[in-house]
Amino acid sequence: MDRIVVATHNKGKVREIREILKDIPFEIVSLDEIGYDIYVEEDQPTFEGNAFKKAIETMKHTGEITIADDSGLEVYYLNGQPGVCSARYAGSDATDEENIAKLLNALKGVPKESRHAVFRCSIVMAYPNGRILKSEGICKGRIGFTPRGSGGFGYDPIFVIDDKGTTFAQLEPDKKNKLSHRGKALRQLKSLLEDIYKES
Ligand code: IMP
Repeated sequence: MDRIVVATHNKGKVREIREILKDIPFEIVSLDEIGYDIYVEEDQPTFEGNAFKKAIETMKHTGEITIADDSGLEVYYLNGQPGVCSARYAGSDATDEENIAKLLNALKGVPKESRHAVFRCSIVMAYPNGRILKSEGICKGRIGFTPRGSGGFGYDPIFVIDDKGTTFAQLEPDKKNKLSHRGKALRQLKSLLEDIYKES
């Protein structure tokens, strides 16, 4: 079976990508699983730019088909922050808890109706033969007042998806994947792959 390398060290992302792409005829492996210590600098101004850079540079290192996901959270009240800096909002080695604490602090006193936010995900799949596939997904919600739930990763405990105040972290993984930016982007990629393999 052909395999796809996922260009990330984020275990939460790998888990979700593997689950959403479980029906495709590729083995999905992460950089950590194949022993590659590559860190591509995410210095592009857009999610797509960073996903493209991570996919191409990783593919050049490994020589294998590669998928990169660049994603993050844009908060309208904060003019789109943390955006492409979501992973390092509270500093280059920030933990999820530190990023959440910084975001909740930045929104201190901001009422529910002004806490709208969107998760964005850009996926790039790069083949050693030069073929590139791209897809995108978004998920709208708002930032809660306190963390809730223990599932998922990153900002999931404060990303609220309905009027009951349910967060991504309170959903079962398959429910999150159905609604999430990453789920939407990866299902779009899957349908591109199906078209390609139908043709060949
Ligand atoms: P990057 O794509 O490696 O730059 O990191 C994306 C960052 O955005 C993650 O480290 C999380 O902080 C955040 N993020 C992206 N997708 C999700 C998600 O599905 N749930 C929660 N946080 C996310």
